[in-house]
Amino acid sequence: MSPALLTEGPDPGSILVVEDDADLLTVLTNTLGTICRVVRTASTLADAIRECTTHAPDIVVLDLGLPDGDGADPLRRLRGLTDVPIIVLSERAEEDDKVALLDAGADDFIIKPCGAEELLARVRGQMRRSATSIAARSWARIITDGVEIDLIAQRVVRHGEPQRLTPTEWALLRALVLHSGRALSPRQLWDLVWAREFGDFATHVRVHMTHLRRKVEPDPSMPRLIITEPGVGYRFVGPS
Ligand code: CA
Repeated sequence: MSPALLTEGPDPGSILVVEDDADLLTVLTNTLGTICRVVRTASTLADAIRECTTHAPDIVVLDLGLPDGDGADPLRRLRGLTDVPIIVLSERAEEDDKVALLDAGADDFIIKPCGAEELLARVRGQMRRSATSIAARSWARIITDGVEIDLIAQRVVRHGEPQRLTPTEWALLRALVLHSGRALSPRQLWDLVWAREFGDFATHVRVHMTHLRRKVEPDPSMPRLIITEPGVGYRFVGPS
């Protein structure tokens, strides 16, 4: 599939916005109404649960501070009901929280306050991810800035030089591509690639990531295929 297809994301048909601040909810609804056919709203966790079970949204934007649920709890409850992308709206910028939220099933974060442009970009990014997560499995060939990655032939040529990836590096690359657009914590990568219970996963992931980037990034000192999400982990964004 052409990487160009990944630059334009599909717009969601229906979105559920969960926010208890009435003014902010109005702003969010108006903004998202420019790209979504249906915008449904909820201002409590109980409403959000009802919406998820009765109307099956394509994507959810979720405030974490609700009158009847706070922190990762609302996220976990909704994640138990739906597989669609959940973008968390948070006032918390704490790095530890971000990792905990990823592990609890968040697909992306927006730190309040955020502009309309960022909101729309994040929503589109998640829709793109969910639409291409299957396609990405066969995202066989990536050619960008002097680097060619062929996942099926297991071949990487970087600036004319064939690169030899270890089985672990292939597994890491495949895991990242499979979850294109989504930030993965070192813990998640560890579970996906190593499937071991014990070990210093943070160090393992970091070391292998460094090696992988040297082989697949056009410029390893400025990664742009596999970007670092500060305090969270890594995200495969593919060629721009
Ligand atoms: Ca709130």
